[in-house]
Amino acid sequence: NPFARARYMLAAHTPRQLPPDGGFEVAFAGRSNAGKSTALNAICQQNALARVSKTPGRTQQLVFFDFEPSSGGPPSDRFLVDLPGYGYAKVPKDLQAHWQAFIDGYFRTREALKGLVVVMDIRHPLKDYDRQMLGYAVQRGLPAHAILTKADKLGRGAQGNALLAVRKAMKAEFGDAVSVQVFSGESKIGVDEARAVIGRWLEL
Ligand code: GDP
Repeated sequence: NPFARARYMLAAHTPRQLPPDGGFEVAFAGRSNAGKSTALNAICQQNALARVSKTPGRTQQLVFFDFEPSSGGPPSDRFLVDLPGYGYAKVPKDLQAHWQAFIDGYFRTREALKGLVVVMDIRHPLKDYDRQMLGYAVQRGLPAHAILTKADKLGRGAQGNALLAVRKAMKAEFGDAVSVQVFSGESKIGVDEARAVIGRWLEL
């Protein structure tokens, strides 16, 4: 599992703090509490990887994870990017505007960005902001993948129904550049499937 080599690299809260725009990045978005940190940790087989993103006061940053190179190997130019959980918005108005511009700019112009993962609670999928993020990606021609997490909270039948409903809604709204899967960070459902999609985008 190449994702087990992921490690915290840096947190950027201004464009100047971003690493050079040269490699391959996959960004993770999701509403606060959707289960994004838990999903990242499960995918990377680590217990506390994404914890740093949640440190109070650091919620308005893009957190970059890189991959430890194999011994003697060159530094990796592959990155996972943890976007701040949306739905908090407990920041002053001017800061919010600054932040919005930063995220929008990153999302619109970042060449290294190869795909977007949107983490959604399987019981509450496709809220406004989820749709907005998916729409951004599709407009830019980026593939997007939805992870319906906390699947362990539903029975098999309900999981399947949720998957079909979201797949249908996403296809109608965003076309074929989007995919969706069932996931649980807790029960480790769908972890290999998520790794396969992200690994393909990162050319891992
Ligand atoms: P984030 O704000 O999106 O990063 O969400 P977290 O990963 O911190 O998860 C929010 C809450 O949901 C925590 O209490 C987690 O324990 C819980 N949670 C996250 N993923 C799962 C899951 O797959 N199954 C269950 N049952 N709970 C989960």
